[in-house]
Amino acid sequence: MPFQNKIYPTNADTIHILFVAAEADPLVKIGGLGDVAGSLPISLNRLSIKQKSRIKLDIRLAIPYYPVTNTSGLDIKKIAEISIPTTKGPVKAEIFETFFDGITVYLVSGDPIRRSELVYGKDFISDSEKFIFFSLVCLELPKILDWRLDILHAHDWHTAIAVHQLRVKKINEPLLKESCSILTLHNLPFMGNGSENSLQKYRISPSLDPSLPDWAKNLPLTMGFSAADQIVTVSPSYAKEILTAEFSCNLHDFFSANQKKLSGILNGLDTALWDPSTDPLIFNTYDQKSLQKRHSNKEELQKEMGFDVVPDVPLLILISRMDFQKGIDLVIETLKQIRHLPWQVILLGSGNSSLENLCQSFEADHPEKVRCRIKFDSKLSHRMYSAGDILLMPSRYEPCGIAQMIAMRYGCVPVARSTGGLRDTLVNHRKSSAGTGFLFNKADTKSFSFTLTKALSVYPQSNEWNAIQQEGMGMDFSWEHSAEKYYQVYESLLPNFQEITE
Ligand code: ADP
Repeated sequence: MPFQNKIYPTNADTIHILFVAAEADPLVKIGGLGDVAGSLPISLNRLSIKQKSRIKLDIRLAIPYYPVTNTSGLDIKKIAEISIPTTKGPVKAEIFETFFDGITVYLVSGDPIRRSELVYGKDFISDSEKFIFFSLVCLELPKILDWRLDILHAHDWHTAIAVHQLRVKKINEPLLKESCSILTLHNLPFMGNGSENSLQKYRISPSLDPSLPDWAKNLPLTMGFSAADQIVTVSPSYAKEILTAEFSCNLHDFFSANQKKLSGILNGLDTALWDPSTDPLIFNTYDQKSLQKRHSNKEELQKEMGFDVVPDVPLLILISRMDFQKGIDLVIETLKQIRHLPWQVILLGSGNSSLENLCQSFEADHPEKVRCRIKFDSKLSHRMYSAGDILLMPSRYEPCGIAQMIAMRYGCVPVARSTGGLRDTLVNHRKSSAGTGFLFNKADTKSFSFTLTKALSVYPQSNEWNAIQQEGMGMDFSWEHSAEKYYQVYESLLPNFQEITE
């Protein structure tokens, strides 16, 4: 029982939560983690203000103050200077405070963070020091602010050390004594490998947890898993998948032993940003009632790409990091197998250079039906979602995935592997029910090409296709759902406190 000995003040009407993450949109955003840390605390705060009969949330966010942090228009005040001890002497930290959308945000600065030009650098040693330093400074915040910490909510390996060290510090620190922790998992394979020297430098001892395999006792993410009171994955299906050898990165025994504290909550989508009825970045805005306006978006994009402007030829799109995880190789192989069918494809992404090369040579071999754009181009992605007929997403694993949610909202039908968040957000098309997309089970070209061919055969049947688009566009992926679920997790920790005090 994780909270057996807690003494929660009986008059407490507020849960104090510190949200710690490596990035938070719009201050700094690299990927999906930035979306979550930027949107979730704000949604939780709004929910707390709205639902007056519930226990209140005092939720604050802390992120590193990188040189690239976008603070324009914000009032930033320095609130403290402290030192973090290391084997090589103390390292100075500065803490700044600002307010954003109803939330107090702490920006943590110091040499390990200032030194990094990129949020996630290529040099793992300095990345690990940066995030360990940040995590340790965050744990000093309650003392600096004289603020009792009820829940530390950390994300991924970057801040998992805060969870681990909380266990150690709470023994002697009154403001942390009753604190518990949640670690949200966005991407399991990134565990913080290469952090050993930094852990030693900051005097952080390995985990002693016997349920962790030896190789995992000195890795930030797994140390955080072990210490966390709750582990939350970014989709319910992914929480189940990591109990299996295929998805667990060799941690299935650990997760099985700790299943009681494991759950999944689907990420939300910024529905104001991703709204085809108001999107300023698309040729022609539209909604469920004016879906026919998409045709001109397709025509414009076909022109822009130098394709033949042919309305009946399905336009396939891929918008993704070029990573083995995303099944980019499966896309190319599958499209090669069905090259005799009518389709055009636009591949937008960057990352792994061999996958980038694979896409580029595919374009060179089929210039009449393939366009490849090796870059990160958010504006182009909006035009593609608003014009594409089918989104290709054959991920090998997908903790949550956001591209499929955007595609559905824009009337672009996903063909995706039934895994993780894809399984939780998509409803498979059947003869008897429209569904919102086409799902396949095995991450191989045979299953993918079978299902893509099926989707291509449904596409010309405009009533059936329209029903799929309508159902997808009607789905509600707003952050309020996720916020409500996290609120419940926060609240679920309370009965254990109160039991003792009653
Ligand atoms: P992941 O977080 O694993 O990369 P997601 O599907 O959760 O995958 O999120 C990817 C997000 O990044 C989506 O919003 C997608 O539109 C966007 N994206 C990915 N690659 C590109 C790119 N090359 N250009 C523009 N947007 C991209």
